Amino acid sequence: MLVGLCLSRWSAEEIVYAQPAGAAKKRIVVVGAGMAGLSAARELKAAGFDVVVIEGRDRIGGRIYTNRSWGTPIDLGASWIHESEGNPLTAIARENAIPTVVDDDSWRYFCAGSTCFDQKYIYSETVKLEKKIWDRSAKISPDISYAEAVEQVVGSDSLSSGQRRFIDFVLSRVEMAFGADADKFSFLYGSNMDSLSGSDLLLPEGYDRIVLALAKGLDIRLNTKALGVDWRKSEPSVETDKGSFQADAVILTLPLGVLKARHLRFKPTLPDSKLNVIERMGFGLLDKVILSFPKVFWPKEVAKFGYLSKQRGEFPELLNWYKFSGQPILVGFTAAAFARSLENLSDKEIVSRQMQVLRGMFGSSVPEPSAFLLSRWARDQFALGSYSHIPVGATDADYYYLGQPVGPLFFAGEATNRRFPGTVHGAFFSGIRVAKEVQVKFSAKRKA
Ligand SMILES: Cc1cc2nc3c(=O)[nH]c(=O)nc-3n(C[C@H](O)[C@H](O)[C@H](O)COP(=O)(O)OP(=O)(O)OC[C@H]3O[C@@H](n4cnc5c(N)ncnc54)[C@H](O)[C@@H]3O)c2cc1C
Repeated sequence: MLVGLCLSRWSAEEIVYAQPAGAAKKRIVVVGAGMAGLSAARELKAAGFDVVVIEGRDRIGGRIYTNRSWGTPIDLGASWIHESEGNPLTAIARENAIPTVVDDDSWRYFCAGSTCFDQKYIYSETVKLEKKIWDRSAKISPDISYAEAVEQVVGSDSLSSGQRRFIDFVLSRVEMAFGADADKFSFLYGSNMDSLSGSDLLLPEGYDRIVLALAKGLDIRLNTKALGVDWRKSEPSVETDKGSFQADAVILTLPLGVLKARHLRFKPTLPDSKLNVIERMGFGLLDKVILSFPKVFWPKEVAKFGYLSKQRGEFPELLNWYKFSGQPILVGFTAAAFARSLENLSDKEIVSRQMQVLRGMFGSSVPEPSAFLLSRWARDQFALGSYSHIPVGATDADYYYLGQPVGPLFFAGEATNRRFPGTVHGAFFSGIRVAKEVQVKFSAKRKA
């Protein structure tokens, strides 16, 4: 099968782990049908394990969520296949005939108030400032926050309000990328991610097409919320609101926000080393405000609009969804503290905040939207935020520690991937990694 081929390519190694001949199939319970849970479950099923996936929501995908209530697919969670060359999701899309469109990353910038910097200036100065900031990293010790590092780079020069707005825009970009508050986000370790190469891709038919392709043939129990894990014996069990699931091993792919909230009761409790890393790591927020209009009133050919706002984080980026789908839709992004404050407002108030920004950008004749969709990821009980990051006080090794098994309990999810945290492909790779760990635990080893 195409997807199966793709998965095995990503786990290819010289050693094959097989369950000993004649042994009873080991039962693996995977908690969470997001990208990490699905990739782990597929891999283990293909290796001959008896796998059941438990999912609290009434849908699969987790932080990949395509809403189809407008009759056109709208993603409220992940949007992009980042760095498509070498990204396994590109291959999965291709092999399952899922259309993708290249994001050309073209920008036009707008400023709150009447005066704005020149377009080329904003682009080149943003790049220059970001480079200058990173060049300082070798000289900074101990760790400080990203916001502090920026202050050190811009020095004590008194900044005009326009320049201050520009600096805030650069900080907003970091806050969007990592969901983290710039004054908490670790400058030294926070963005120590690996990169693949190639353009980012968008999925006009919805990101869920990828998860649906991966989920084919798996035993997934929806509307089944895990309440606790009993691992007092070597065969652990997952307690859910639909009864108990006995296993030989359990794979937990719970978002870091859910782990932090300690929603699940562990018997015995998880060791301090695991609880401390859960505490240390950060789980941030990125939200979307998606507006549909009667017609397009913005430049059709530009992919993204940058907004140098008066308040940091006030919709610094808007995606022109018309360019990629032909629908008159704008996707506004907001992150960190600003996003948290928005989540407390009513839907109407949130839409009105974005409309103020749009009218500031495109003029007072901007019409009212015909429909809106909002995310509130911090209030979503099955996520409690958007994705992980490293705050000051933690290091990037914490991704590794979070992923370490504890007895018969195994851990996966984007927050366990040191190389590509906070991404769909990071979650996918973590699932492959954990499946291999489970195979090693139960299998006889032989040469391929
Ligand atoms: C707004 C937003 C935009 C993003 N944009 C991008 C992007 O463009 N590109 C990109 O690569 N990444 C993006 N990401 C990040 C990406 O979506 C995640 O890193 C990835 O989907 C995480 O997958 P996961 O399997 O680790 O976790 P999840 O997808 O969260 O899966 C965990 C699963 O566990 C389930 N669960 C939780 N608690 C319980 C329980 N008690 N019982 C049973 N089940 C439970 C959840 O419902 C969920 O299905 C974005 C995320 C957000 C929120």
